[in-house]
Amino acid sequence: MDKNSYFGTSSSLTTPQHVPLVPIISDKHLSLLLPIIIYWVYSGMYHLISIYRIPFFEKYRIRSLEETKTKNKISSSEVIKGVIVQQFLQTVLGFIVVAAEEEQVLPDDNAEILGLSQTLETYSTSFGIGHHIRPHKQILAEYSYWYLIPVVKFFFAMFLLDTWQYFMHRLFHQNAFLYRHIHSRHHRLYAPYAFGALYNHPIEGFLFDSLGATIAFTLSGLSVKGASIDHVCLQVSFDDNYLMCRTVDDHSGYDIPFNPIQRIFGNNAIYHDIHHQTYGLKKNFSQPFFTFWDRIFGTYLPYHEVPKVLEEDSSRDIADDDDDPQALKKSKTMESRTSSKRYNLRSRKNIS
Ligand SMILES: [Zn+2]
Ligand SMILES: [Zn+2]
Repeated sequence: MDKNSYFGTSSSLTTPQHVPLVPIISDKHLSLLLPIIIYWVYSGMYHLISIYRIPFFEKYRIRSLEETKTKNKISSSEVIKGVIVQQFLQTVLGFIVVAAEEEQVLPDDNAEILGLSQTLETYSTSFGIGHHIRPHKQILAEYSYWYLIPVVKFFFAMFLLDTWQYFMHRLFHQNAFLYRHIHSRHHRLYAPYAFGALYNHPIEGFLFDSLGATIAFTLSGLSVKGASIDHVCLQVSFDDNYLMCRTVDDHSGYDIPFNPIQRIFGNNAIYHDIHHQTYGLKKNFSQPFFTFWDRIFGTYLPYHEVPKVLEEDSSRDIADDDDDPQALKKSKTMESRTSSKRYNLRSRKNIS
C-alpha cells in the first residue's frame, strides 16, 4: 500500500514533508477556521429553510417559527453576537495552542506495520495458532493498521467524548451555581434553532467542547494528525467539523429522517429538543452521539413518552431550574398545551 503520493518531495527521503491541503494555510490553522465556516454555512442553510418555510421540510419541523420568537428568552441578534464572541475566543485559544505545539514527527508507516505483524506472530504463536496466522501476517497487519485500529480508536473517542459530556452536562444542571451562572445561558433557547447551537457561556464552550474533544482525541490516539491521507480523512470526519455539523443538527429544529448526521446515532434533534424544554431540563443529558448514559442513569426521555410525563408531572416545581422561574412556569403551561399534541402527532417510532 503506497501512501507516499500524499507527501511532497524533500531533501531527505526518510523525512518526507507534509503537503498542506490548502497551499496558503497550514492544515492546523485550516482546522481552526473550517469549523467556523461550516457552522455558519450549515446553520445558514437551516435558517433559510426555516424563515422561508420551505414546504418540503415543513413536515419535519419540530418547532414553529412563531415559537422561536415567543418562547426563547434571547433575541436572535444577541445569539449571533454571543456565538461570534464564543468562536473568536476559541479560535484565539486554538492559535495559541498551535503556536505552542512542537512540530509533529510523522510516524514511519512501514515500520509500524512491521512491528504490528511481528506482534501478531508472537501472540498467535503463544495461542497455538501461529501456523494459521503466519502466512497472512503482512496483509492482516496492513489492514489492521490502516482500517481496524483507526475504527476502534474512532469508537473509543466517541465513547470518551460522550462520557465526558454526559457527566459535565449533568453536573452543570445539578449544581445550582454552575447552572445559574454558566449553563442557563444555553437554556435561554426553548425553541432551539441551528445557529443557536453554540450560544453558550465561553467557560462551557471550553470545558464541554474544547477540553472534551482534546481529551477524547488524545486518549484514543486520534489526535496524531498528518500520518497519511487515510488518517487525515478519518480525523476530519470525526474532528471539529463533524462535531460542528452534529451540534448544528441537534439544534436545527428539524427532525429529518433521511439526514445521516441525525440518523446514524440515536442522539438527534428531537432528543435534544426535549432537553431544551422545561419538563426535560433534567433529562437527555447525553451528547453528542449515543444515549446509553441517559438510559443507565435513568435520565432518558424519548419523545413518545413526553405526553405521559406532562400528564403525570404537571405540578412539578421547576423554580430551581433557571434564572427566571416565572417565565419558566409560564412557558411550562404553554408547553403542556402544545407538546402533547405535537408528540402525539408524530408517527415515526424509535427516533431516539
Ligand atoms: Zn443542558
Ligand atoms: Zn442545546
